[in-house]
Amino acid sequence: CWCMLEAYSRAWAEIDYDAIAHNCDEVQKIVGSTKIMGIVKANAYGHGDIACAKALRDWGVDFFGVSSVDEAIGLRQGGIEENILILGYTPEEHFHYLHEYNLVQSLCSYAYAKKLNQYGKENHCVIRAHCKVDTGMNRTGVIYQTQEKHMEEILAEYQLEAVSVEGIFSHFPVSDDLGEDAKTFTKKQIDLFNEVLANLKAAGINPGVTHLQNSYGILNYGSLGYDYCRPGLLYMGVTSDDTIPIASNPDFIPILSLYANVSVVKWLQPGMTVSYGRHFTVKKPCKVATMSIGYADGLPRIVSNQDLHVLVHGQACPIIGNVCMDQCMIDVTDVENVQEGDTVCIVGLQGGKRVTIDEISRKAHTINNETLSALAARVPRLKKRG
Ligand SMILES: *Cc1c(COP(=O)(O)O)cnc(C)c1O
Repeated sequence: CWCMLEAYSRAWAEIDYDAIAHNCDEVQKIVGSTKIMGIVKANAYGHGDIACAKALRDWGVDFFGVSSVDEAIGLRQGGIEENILILGYTPEEHFHYLHEYNLVQSLCSYAYAKKLNQYGKENHCVIRAHCKVDTGMNRTGVIYQTQEKHMEEILAEYQLEAVSVEGIFSHFPVSDDLGEDAKTFTKKQIDLFNEVLANLKAAGINPGVTHLQNSYGILNYGSLGYDYCRPGLLYMGVTSDDTIPIASNPDFIPILSLYANVSVVKWLQPGMTVSYGRHFTVKKPCKVATMSIGYADGLPRIVSNQDLHVLVHGQACPIIGNVCMDQCMIDVTDVENVQEGDTVCIVGLQGGKRVTIDEISRKAHTINNETLSALAARVPRLKKRG
């Protein structure tokens, strides 16, 4: 397993899988009796999907969410036997995997549900599914919004003979925003979802398991009483952006740290420049270290020359000049005894100081979801011990 490598590389991530249990406890305090569906799509946002799923399972998670059928098969082959919901689209030529691997497919539309039903009838099998209701994201699902309500399609999905609808869910586009407009919109989505559940019950249909909240839906809307919630980020111990205010006060442990090595240390004199494009000019004698991580590892090139700090011997040092594909340079003038082979902390704790993924994301004008999931496959994920 790639997350169990013993030898450290030129750049590596260390993942504290044990902290997942703590982070799940924190989520559970917020959502009350609602169970956690562990969202492990995109290799658990770069943290290793099988290792995360096993840690979540050991804590008590019995349902996982992924984006595609190949991610789901990867989990099955990795020994995950619990329920797996595919949140995204499965093309028709892969329908047979749904049955073979006992997966739950989300119904992207009523037309899609009919296609799945056709497949099930022709192949004498029943496909497990969750009904996706589109209450305002306008991505996938049957539309059920103020202006346009397709209850008849939702009802029809539950009547299909070769598709077994075992659950129902919807998704929030602005649960991270505590502004009045966004809160009104999100609350309306909750009302619409509840209306759908009431309509199903009135028609004598059991909706199956219900789930609505993503990470910010959990943080800002607390206990809503549905069967499951769907955190991705939260069990990883981070949010999208640590400057976004939230309505709860959880105590998360970020599970990912990122490191590289110092390869060269040298003194540069005024007028000399650093890296491609010569965008950094030395002003006074400056001790510069080269470190072995670059944009092909997932350190975004856009953070070049933005005063992003990393830790060497527990001291903050800025990245100077352009980030290269496999390397970049840092100003270590104020750090004593820096040597080739020293460990640089790009994300995590060193000498009592912390540098966060949030700082990288902010300077890259994006959110942690993207920065984490863009961490390259070539960066080994090591399991943090002790
Ligand atoms: C990705 C995703 C989630 C998890 O999102 P987080 O913000 O990481 O909690 C939940 N539900 C759906 C439908 C998703 O696509």
